[in-house]
Amino acid sequence: MSAMYTVLAGGVGASRFLQGLAMTVPQHEVTVISNTGDDLEFAGLHVSPDTDIVIYALAGVVNPETGWGLSGDTFAVVEALQRFGYERWFSLGDRDLATAVHRTRLLRAGWPMHRVVADLTRAWGLDVRVLPMSDDPVRTVIEGPEGDLPFQEYMVRRRTEVDVRGIRFAGAAAARPAPGVLEALREARAVILAPSNPFVSIGPILAVPGVRQALAETRAARVAISPVIAGQVVKGPAAKMLAALGQEVSALGVARLYRGLVDLFVLDTADAGLAPAVEALGMRALVTETLMSSDERKRALARAILAALEVPR
Ligand code: GDP
Ligand code: CA
Repeated sequence: MSAMYTVLAGGVGASRFLQGLAMTVPQHEVTVISNTGDDLEFAGLHVSPDTDIVIYALAGVVNPETGWGLSGDTFAVVEALQRFGYERWFSLGDRDLATAVHRTRLLRAGWPMHRVVADLTRAWGLDVRVLPMSDDPVRTVIEGPEGDLPFQEYMVRRRTEVDVRGIRFAGAAAARPAPGVLEALREARAVILAPSNPFVSIGPILAVPGVRQALAETRAARVAISPVIAGQVVKGPAAKMLAALGQEVSALGVARLYRGLVDLFVLDTADAGLAPAVEALGMRALVTETLMSSDERKRALARAILAALEVPR
């Protein structure tokens, strides 16, 4: 029996939504398709920021202040690496490094990424199934005025202070969906696009050949949650990217990106006035509180969406 809920997920916004969903339905009914376009090599180790955020959040160990990393982690190793001239712009906690060591070791032993991620979720005791979007490398590249930047250089080193001229996903054309990804889209009762950055979190997943088509053709109810509230993002560069790429900086701008891919679009009560324009795109609008600032709000959002989908809980 395949899982009933399939969630396309980036990092922080997605992990908050997944916490609410996992408090509302049995964990084994949830499959996450995780963005690996943000992956990078750090000090010789393979780091998957979005996948780790999702795993840590579901395991209840994510740092609540940052939304990434492990709660209470220390940074002795990245400090000590300074002596040898390592750059400090990308930070990774000591216990977080253990995850990277283990992941790297398994990858070097020839394990495909989906097995590595399954091992990590097992180690953290999760019943949620987390699938990387692909076992093959796909890397998000930000095209700026001075040339291309790997995603983490844009995001962390340059703090998103670069004009985005374009975004591409290196390796995507040759990538195959990880085993289980297409089935999870086709066989779910509901496919949910988390309130993640549509360009650099959901975008890379949709760029894996076959994924967009499976989403377009699935009989599952398809829903997206706006990461933009009242014309602003809770965090991150999604608003800047909407503007830079010629889109309206609003929940409606996000809804336009998902036209034909979703049946229900969730927007915040602050954006209730946009609901008719969203519905004119050919999707139903659900207006509810979408700021997930507490466990209660996370749960309430998940419940509201399930009720709107009329999926029995
Ligand atoms: P990243 O990979 O860590 O940047 O995470 P995501 O792409 O999953 O999430 C970034 C997006 O999440 C941003 O556009 C935020 O606006 C959005 N986000 C974060 N928290 C919330 C929230 O509580 N509610 C909503 N609606 N969006 C959120
Ligand atoms: Ca990310």
